Amino acid sequence: MIKFLDLEKVTASFEPGLSREVERVVRSGWYLLGNEVHAFEADFARYCGVGECVGVANGLDALTLILRGYMEMGWMQEGDEVIVPANTYIATILSITRNRLVPVLCEPEEGTCLIDPARIEPLVTARTKAIMVVHLYGQVVDMEPVSQVAAKYHLKVIEDAAQAHGACYQGRRAGNLGDAAAFSFYPGKNLGALGDGGAVTTHDAELAKVVRALANYGSSAKYVFPYKGINSRLDEVQAAVLRHKLARLDADNERRRHVAERYMEGICHPLVALPEWREREGHVFHIFAVRCARRDALQAHLAGLGVQTLIHYPVPPHKQEAYREWNSRSYPVTERIHREELSLPISPVMTEEEVDIVVNAVNCFAPEDE
Ligand SMILES: *Cc1c(COP(=O)(O)O)cnc(C)c1O
Repeated sequence: MIKFLDLEKVTASFEPGLSREVERVVRSGWYLLGNEVHAFEADFARYCGVGECVGVANGLDALTLILRGYMEMGWMQEGDEVIVPANTYIATILSITRNRLVPVLCEPEEGTCLIDPARIEPLVTARTKAIMVVHLYGQVVDMEPVSQVAAKYHLKVIEDAAQAHGACYQGRRAGNLGDAAAFSFYPGKNLGALGDGGAVTTHDAELAKVVRALANYGSSAKYVFPYKGINSRLDEVQAAVLRHKLARLDADNERRRHVAERYMEGICHPLVALPEWREREGHVFHIFAVRCARRDALQAHLAGLGVQTLIHYPVPPHKQEAYREWNSRSYPVTERIHREELSLPISPVMTEEEVDIVVNAVNCFAPEDE
């Protein structure tokens, strides 16, 4: 049985160092807002190439607090619009509606499944205040045309980099490609904690200050509360874990690209479309997404051969009950992607033999037999 992602094996590959880090924090007697978080924030800011990093509790909070920060700074207000890809994990959209802002859904490009820059400008209105791009599956969005539209209409560019730790665009890393970026350190992400975690990266020292305050009850100094904040903190144990794992992130991403290259070379099937991979360093393959019109049959076929796959994601946000007010809308490219997408196993700990098994299993798919 080949797991979609063998997290037990991933964690074991960091031992014994990882447990030593955890034990060090356990023994320290200091569990929140301490040196571990400061050290990780400094390391991750340097890694991304930005001036500021603020650790928060999870990726959804990171996205939400960026928008909330801009609202507190007077950049946007309730009812303003944020352009966002229609095909994304629901957290991206939730961060917008949670702030009573309005998501304006944009169709993706068919080949990369990333927001289509050419479709952004027609969606801009007098109320548009930001473009939230999602580096979906680990591949960076083509930022140049996005930045041009943003500059023309004075919009903020926010990156949902929850799947793209370490991905590069023209030599710069995700997290450093817009005005602010949100990361998730959910255990299965390319840089994953042993629990929840998230971070905001930015060059904007003022935004970082506001986000840091908002994440700590709205406190700017002890017992001083300029904002009605929330409690959203990265804890010391997770920060120590992340700092330890960050040192190997580039090597792990390279390992993922190696598996992806083997898939790209090995998989050859008339019913299975391989992902469009634009720039080598531009993709960190959080997910290796193939497309197949007979997706469910392909998934069953692979499961029968012991290959576990997942679907990212079966139902787009606008077809969810949570957003029932949008259920009758039509985004054909988005809906086709959600109907056809299948995610093959990929991780830094997959063996060459496992990759061979997956390749052969896909190549012998014969749907008429299903
Ligand atoms: C994982 C993820 C999030 C949310 O991160 P959490 O830490 O689980 O809150 C947001 N956006 C995308 C694209 C994600 O993949």
